[in-house]
Amino acid sequence: MSTPTHCPWCGWGYQDAALVQEFWSGDEQWFCCWCSRCERVADVGAIDRIVVTEAVMA
Ligand SMILES: [Zn+2]
Repeated sequence: MSTPTHCPWCGWGYQDAALVQEFWSGDEQWFCCWCSRCERVADVGAIDRIVVTEAVMA
């Protein structure tokens, strides 16, 4: 997996001002990313499959 290039929160392309830190969890490679535009942190990793439920506001 290559270094993430865009913020998963706002879609902004990471530039020099963004922080991307690689770390490992067992044999899984992850990247902890901080976006200088929206100032949110995201942990990004490669996965083969995901199943999620969707919460709908009443
Ligand atoms: Zn962002």
